[in-house]
Amino acid sequence: MAAPAEPSLAISARDLRKTYRGPPPKEALKGIDLDVPRSSIFGLLGPNGAGKSTFINILASLVTKTSGSVEIWGNDIDRARRAASSMIGIVPQELVIDPFFTPRETLELQAGYYGVPKDARRTDEILSALGLTEHADAYSRRLSGGMRRRLMVAKAMVHDPPVLVLDEPTAGVDVELRVQLWDYVRVLNARGTTVVLTTHYLEEAEQMCDRIAIINHGEVVACDSTDTLVRRLDEKEIALVLDHDIADVPAALKRFNSQLSGPRRLVVRYRPSETRVEEILAAVGGAGLRVVDLSTFEPDLEDLFLSLTSRSNAA
Ligand code: ADP
Ligand code: MG
Repeated sequence: MAAPAEPSLAISARDLRKTYRGPPPKEALKGIDLDVPRSSIFGLLGPNGAGKSTFINILASLVTKTSGSVEIWGNDIDRARRAASSMIGIVPQELVIDPFFTPRETLELQAGYYGVPKDARRTDEILSALGLTEHADAYSRRLSGGMRRRLMVAKAMVHDPPVLVLDEPTAGVDVELRVQLWDYVRVLNARGTTVVLTTHYLEEAEQMCDRIAIINHGEVVACDSTDTLVRRLDEKEIALVLDHDIADVPAALKRFNSQLSGPRRLVVRYRPSETRVEEILAAVGGAGLRVVDLSTFEPDLEDLFLSLTSRSNAA
C-alpha cells in the first residue's frame, strides 16, 4: 500500500533494537519507541554512547537493525526501502567526503544517485545557501573541516527530502558556522522540512527544538515538548537575603524545605505544583523577617538531563 502523501509522523520507530555483534556484543538500542511529528524540529539528546548515532544510522541504512520497525514518511524501511530513503536526508556524525570531487561534482553525483532529473537539480541554490559557492569548484580535499561539514549538509539535501537528520552537526564547528547552520535549519523548517538533530549543547536544543527525546543506555527516558520537559522537574528555589543575621531557620519556615546558607541568607526549595510562593513569603513576613533582596532559581534542560541520566550512569 502506498504511503500517504502527508503523514502526520515524519519518523516512527517501534521496539527498535540493535545489538552490535562484537565481541563483546553490545546492546546499543534496547527497544526504542519514537515518533517524530511532521514539521517539528526534534532533538535527540543523550550522553556519549547512548545510541543516538545508532538510531540515526539505522534510518540512513548505514547500520542494520536487529529487530523492530521504522517508518520514514509512512514508508517502512524494510518493505519500502527506496521510498523511505527518498524521503530523508542524513548528515552522519562521521565526515565522509570524496576528496577527488569538487563540491559541485559531489552534489551532482548525489543528485544522480537519487535520480533527480538535471532540470530539477538545485545545485547552485544549495551551494549558495550553505556558503559554498566560492569553493564550489575546488577539490574537496582542500576544504576545511567546517566547509566539509557544510558539504555534508548540502549533500543530504539534493533530493529535497521532507525529513532532514543532522547527527551532531555543530560538534567541533566554529561559532559562525553554527549560527549559519541553525539559521538555515530554521529556514528549511519554516518551509516545511521536518528536522531531527542530535547535539551535546543542551542550550542549543532548548532554543532550537520544539520536541526533545532523551536517550540513555539505548532507551528513551523522556520524550515531550521542550516546554513540558523543562517544566517537569517541578522544583524551584528562592533565596532571600535578610536585613539582619539569624541563628536558625524560624519555626514558621520549618514546614518548608528551608535552610540557612549564610547568616542572612535563607534558601527555600519548593514544588510549584504544591506550594505557592506567596505562602512562603507570608511565612517569612509572619516570622518578622525583612527581606532586602530575593532571587529565584529554576532548573533548565541541563538539570533535567542530568537528573534523568545520572542515576543509571552510576549503576
Ligand atoms: P551516541 O551516538 O549516542 O554517542 P552510538 O550510537 O554511537 O552512541 O553508540 C552506542 C553504543 O554502541 C556505544 O556503546 C558504542 O560503543 C556502541 N557501538 C557503536 N557503534 C558500534 C560498532 N560499529 N560496533 C560495536 N559497538 C558499537
Ligand atoms: Mg553519536
